[in-house]
Amino acid sequence: MESCKEYLLQLIPQCLSAAYATLGTHPFARLDVLIVPSNFSSLGMASPHIIFLSQSVLPGGSHLCGTRLCHEIAHAWFGLAIGARDWTEEWISEGFATFLEDIFWARAQQLSHDEIKGQQELKALLRWHRLRDEVQNSEEELQVLRPKKESTGELSESGASVVKYGLKAEKIFMQVHYLKGYFLLRSLARTIGEVSFLASLQKFVIKFHGQLILSQVLCLGLSLTFWKNKQPKLLDWLPKSSLLVLLPDQLVLLLESLLEEKTLCPRILQYLERTYQLREQDAEVRHRWCELVIKHKYEPGYRDIERFLREDQVICQKLGCIHVFLLWSPKHCSLRKLPRVGVFNTT
Ligand SMILES: [Zn+2]
Repeated sequence: MESCKEYLLQLIPQCLSAAYATLGTHPFARLDVLIVPSNFSSLGMASPHIIFLSQSVLPGGSHLCGTRLCHEIAHAWFGLAIGARDWTEEWISEGFATFLEDIFWARAQQLSHDEIKGQQELKALLRWHRLRDEVQNSEEELQVLRPKKESTGELSESGASVVKYGLKAEKIFMQVHYLKGYFLLRSLARTIGEVSFLASLQKFVIKFHGQLILSQVLCLGLSLTFWKNKQPKLLDWLPKSSLLVLLPDQLVLLLESLLEEKTLCPRILQYLERTYQLREQDAEVRHRWCELVIKHKYEPGYRDIERFLREDQVICQKLGCIHVFLLWSPKHCSLRKLPRVGVFNTT
């Protein structure tokens, strides 16, 4: 009771303010904090209107209590307002909550830039030790973040989905989903800069509020923000990440969103083409690629338009764009006056 008064009551507003400053308004109308006995099955748990905190986090100063509280607060966004569509994708909630726990906690303590860096490095080192030990001492198949791979999120005819390894007793004690997810997000944040990364997350939580998502959706959302923000550092990192492999429909969505951009420099278009191997994609994807090429007068892509017109006339006609593409010519681009290519109906 004394520890609650001494630490917890002061920490709650500080940690919540730090979370709001990072991700925006709290996703739920009410929040209670319930202290549970130390034999509770975990140190903390989040549900939409209640955070359960174990008595075990209270003694010994504010550090353990504060970090746990920040972790559970982060679940309001990742785990509750936005959830994993398939429980084999729990890294989406635990990876984010672990990553955001450090961000919230540093802001709640109002640390200086150097102090934040030092604290985050120390945490990363401790987590690295824990991850290394677990990887060395657990079954390899349990360490995979997406054990169902391509069939993740698939439902049977009855509407049920199977949780792979859900009955393995040791699975619930493993931290690998927390830690690998955390290191992935830390690496992304370091690549593009923490401020830009957190700004992207703020947009992401608004866009996907109330949805159950898969890793691909997460990657699509992040890719969109990164491409739109023209993050040069990320462009070097992207092609190496198998997590950012997009399905054809996701690529179409990505390219359509990029078509709304007023400017995209040739380097971005070059990286975009190389990253997603756009010339090897299906006609729907290449159609959007051609639109981007025309809109931004990207000369290395002109031969892709010629090929598209030659080989994919049916798609052209179906999309009502043949008229517009035929107006186009590399030498005198008659599309200059047209606001957007490919949306004009010729009938
Ligand atoms: Zn958690």
